[in-house]
Amino acid sequence: MESFDVLIIGGSAAGLSCALILGSAMEKPFAKNKKIGIITHQKASALQNAELNNVLGFKKGTKGSTILEEGLKQLTSDFPKVIQISNEKVVSILKEGNSISIKTNKNLYKASKIVITTSPAKPAIIKGLESYVIPHPTIPAIKDKIMLKNHNHIVAEGIYVAGVIAGWRSQYAIAAGSGALVATDILTEWNNGNHTMIHDVIE
Ligand SMILES: Cc1cc2nc3c(=O)[nH]c(=O)nc-3n(C[C@H](O)[C@H](O)[C@H](O)COP(=O)(O)OP(=O)(O)OC[C@H]3O[C@@H](n4cnc5c(N)ncnc54)[C@H](O)[C@@H]3O)c2cc1C
Repeated sequence: MESFDVLIIGGSAAGLSCALILGSAMEKPFAKNKKIGIITHQKASALQNAELNNVLGFKKGTKGSTILEEGLKQLTSDFPKVIQISNEKVVSILKEGNSISIKTNKNLYKASKIVITTSPAKPAIIKGLESYVIPHPTIPAIKDKIMLKNHNHIVAEGIYVAGVIAGWRSQYAIAAGSGALVATDILTEWNNGNHTMIHDVIE
């Protein structure tokens, strides 16, 4: 069974943003031996039908579906050490002590930490997470969406949540920022609590 230090679940704005920042840190001493993976399921992403005309850096008319495709390519080419698991959907999660088991429709994985970035739709909730589900506070109640109860993106020890399912309003930049924030929280923990950002500088 494949084991990860961190496994991200969901390959959209929050999940891919988290994976890119973790990937960009993999040459740092505190992250060098870490194994990072992402389950890049994208079918249920809100981005599939979105046109993004209000996101910094995106040209008018940018399709969400293009960003999903390009995001995977960017992760592959820039940070190939991040293991991408495609064509799998998580069906259940079980936390036993310090280890988390993640069952997909095809495989079983283990991880020390997981980052849940799935959609806020009720039927999409993964088995094992039911006790953390509460009504979504920032999406109109008529839409009947849910979030995972958390404190600063932490649901339980080793279980992080990011993106709209963390309770944030549904805007691309907010979801991406939330995924990025969780990545830097994990890096800070790996770096003995020293606040960590990954910046590149023009040579
Ligand atoms: C029609 C529409 C138009 C929009 N237009 C704009 C706009 O103009 N500007 C803007 O800022 N925002 C817009 N948005 C909002 C934006 O798309 C969302 O805020 C953003 O996609 C949220 O990202 P996320 O990563 O939190 O969740 P999502 O994009 O919903 O991604 C969730 C991910 O989890 C995966 N997943 C779900 N279940 C599982 C599972 N069991 N196992 C593994 N993976 C799973 C999904 O396939 C998906 O990849 C729009 C949304 C819609 C629906």
